[in-house]
Amino acid sequence: MKIFILKYVLFIILILVLLKCNIIADSRYLYNKNYFIQNTDEINFGRLSIVSFKYTVSNCNSQNDCAHNLFDGNRNTEWIGIKESDIESVTIDFGSKRLLNNVRWDISPNSAVVNEIQIQVLHRNEWKTLSSVMSPALQGIAEIVSTDASIIKINFIKSEGENLSIRQLSILLNESNLTGISPRLTSYSLPTFGAVIPEDDYYLPGAPRKYRNGFHKGLDFNSYIGADQIEQKMKLTTPILAIGSGEIVRVDNDYIPMSLNEYNDITQYNQTHPVTYVDKDFGGRQIWIDHKNGIMSSYNHLSSIVKNIKIGTKIARGEIIGYAGNSGLISEIKSSKDQIHLHLELWIDGEYLGNDMKPIQIRKFLQYFFTE
Ligand SMILES: [Zn+2]
Repeated sequence: MKIFILKYVLFIILILVLLKCNIIADSRYLYNKNYFIQNTDEINFGRLSIVSFKYTVSNCNSQNDCAHNLFDGNRNTEWIGIKESDIESVTIDFGSKRLLNNVRWDISPNSAVVNEIQIQVLHRNEWKTLSSVMSPALQGIAEIVSTDASIIKINFIKSEGENLSIRQLSILLNESNLTGISPRLTSYSLPTFGAVIPEDDYYLPGAPRKYRNGFHKGLDFNSYIGADQIEQKMKLTTPILAIGSGEIVRVDNDYIPMSLNEYNDITQYNQTHPVTYVDKDFGGRQIWIDHKNGIMSSYNHLSSIVKNIKIGTKIARGEIIGYAGNSGLISEIKSSKDQIHLHLELWIDGEYLGNDMKPIQIRKFLQYFFTE
């Protein structure tokens, strides 16, 4: 009996040690945590949506292989339907009638052979087949000439025993993809190696603040997953990477920190007055990159900037531009190493990402935006 209790206690201690060391990794620390619901969800990014819609799929192999992968513009991610079925379907509900005239698919070479694709619309309470493609090519397009419908179902008919695997699915009106997001809003990379998108909505853009006109405009990266797979706080030596290629439009090479008096004065003033313009702001040492197509990124609180970066310098995606820090924050003035993080702002058509978006929308959007 004593040995049993001793073993039990040792087991508990072992688990506690493993948890402390982060050896049993909690999935919430992974930056690519999936914010989409399993089989059914909505794509609605407010002003950043082409068209908002709801979708449902018949099955998912797992949450990571589920339906949003159909619409993310990323051919490396797939929707995988289960083996035990000879038909899988995707239903798209636009909420109101849409003009559409073709459906495009991209079937993975790993997929079960698809014998037929059926395109249906809900007519009264029955599915009416508008088009049926027998033995479809892996990548193909079916015309559904001059259709106006609000709910469309696409059936993939296959043989049992193998997983269906679809990379992309689009419903189009001519060349415009009604079920995607604009390609200009995808294919950016994360701003540090192993970047962790924070769990707490407080660090997202659009989160309420008592300063900066009442809203946090950036996305705060406080930690990263190191090469040893352990999550660590950002350090002064953490490289900051350009999220996409572009041109430098601001670089604070001559940055001078605020004095404590200046800091207190600005902080106090902002408590009771709207912020209209700041010549010295809490963003500290900054770099801004213009990625063109209406998209800019701004990197705040840097401790240093890579040599030879000037206004007009062309930058490649993933290039190191500076190092994390706490410039512009009280800890810099107090010469402490607290508060080291990257505040990254994403500006789209002159508005910051997160303006008028809910945290869940922002998190989903970021899964499209950052595809590595
Ligand atoms: Zn911030």
